[in-house]
Parts: sequence; structure tokens; C-alpha cells
Amino acid sequence: MPEGHTIHRAARDHAGMIGGKVIAAISPQGRFATGAALIDGTTCEGTGAIGKHLLYHFSNGQTLHIHLGLGGYFVCQPQPADAPREVVRIRLESATHAIDIIGPNTCELMPTPEVEVLTLRYGPDVLSETPDPARAIAAIRKSRAPIARLLMDQKVISGIGNIYRAEILWLQRLNPMTRGADISEEALLALWTEMRRLLQIGVETNAIITTGDLDTTGTNITERTNIFAREVCPACNGKITKSKLSGRTLYHCPSCQAEPVHKNVHTGPK
Ligand SMILES: [Zn+2]
Repeated sequence: MPEGHTIHRAARDHAGMIGGKVIAAISPQGRFATGAALIDGTTCEGTGAIGKHLLYHFSNGQTLHIHLGLGGYFVCQPQPADAPREVVRIRLESATHAIDIIGPNTCELMPTPEVEVLTLRYGPDVLSETPDPARAIAAIRKSRAPIARLLMDQKVISGIGNIYRAEILWLQRLNPMTRGADISEEALLALWTEMRRLLQIGVETNAIITTGDLDTTGTNITERTNIFAREVCPACNGKITKSKLSGRTLYHCPSCQAEPVHKNVHTGPK
């Protein structure tokens, strides 16, 4: 599953390939033939991303909404592009590039008002051009769920995947089980600012880099992490704890990210 920065990166790259240009749209697989015909011959007016949702806006008021899901992917080529493979759900083609979308979970056209509904259905996107941390912070502070679960809840906040979750909580020295309601507004704003900074690095480098070392020359790394999938904490040399939360592996350092003290818990004698 791609993390949020990859979809923002794709939105930016694809805008450079088809944005402002008349496009041809076909569905080599046939499953999206009707949809493709509706946008064929229109101009792509731009792209956008909300978390893991990628949007392409067209001059006839239609928006193509793509969610890759677990197995979907893009293949982009400069022109002249090879003939599309039969598995391609939709090919978007400009005079300069072809973008093939293969195996997406969601591939649908939406008129503009529905796009607005989609935007409101999800928590604010960390990488949005009009960031709205207050909405995410309010949703977190209203909840007694652990922060580790809230960060991955796309209704609360969009764009955080499993790797960023582990890294951001460690960088902020927050225990993953701390309840949303127990975290101060100030700490959540610091968390948001850190997430935005790291995801922006992700878009720029096309890799998840959460350490200070941003140099990617001569490498093709996709990850450079502090504690995710690691054994030893780089800050205290203690052992990293690996556990499960909502079916996903969670990493944290039990000494750097101490257990939260729950407020309102009765600890005295009965
Ligand atoms: Zn540690």
C-alpha cells in the first residue's frame, strides 16, 4: 500500500505529463470503456491528491478518481508509448506522455460536487496546499482511541501510512497507546508540523526518509528510518518493541516513548 507522499508525488508528476493538454482516454481492458469515452478528447485541467486518492480534473467538469489499493500501480511512458497491455484499466495519453493505470481498487468518474463530498469525507491531508491542522487536531482530541490508531484513520487525517506512523511517534517521543484526548493541542500541532515536513521530504526524494540524512545520490533507497523494521533504538540503544494494532505492525521504543499516564484513572484503594 503506498503511503500518502507517493500519491502526491504521482499527482505532481502526472500533472507535468498531461496537465493543460488535450488527452485521449481508452480502456484497453474494457472495464472502464464508458468512463474513458466520457473524458476522451477533453483537456486535463490538473491533478490533486487527498491521502491515497488521486484525482484528475477534466475540462468537461468530470473528475477521475483513482485509489490504487494494495495491488494497483501506474506505468508512465514518454511518447511514442508502447501499445497498452490488456490489463490496463485506463490509459490517459497526451502528445508527450502516456499514463497507464493498472489494477486500481477504485476507478470512477465524479462530477465536481461529488469531489467536494469526497474531500469532506476524509480528514485533512497532511500535504494539502491549504493545510487544515485544526480539523485533525480537534478530531484527535475528541477521541479516546490510541494516537497510533487515529493517525492511520483516514477520517481523522489523510496521508499517514504505517512507516510514517512509527517514525513520527518516535520522533515526537509519544507512546503509540496514548489516548488522543490526553494529548495537548500544542503537542498535536508539533506532530502535524513534523508529519508535513517528513511527507514533503517524501515527495521531493520519492523515498520515506525520517532521519537527518537526506542524501540520496547514487542510491535507489525507498526507506531510511529510525525505528521502523529495526531492532535497536538509535537514541537509547534499547530494543525496539514490535506489536500489532488493528492488524498492522507497530514499532516503538519502550524507553524513549514511555507508557502514557491515563488521566481520570482511579488508582487509589477501593
Ligand atoms: Zn529509545
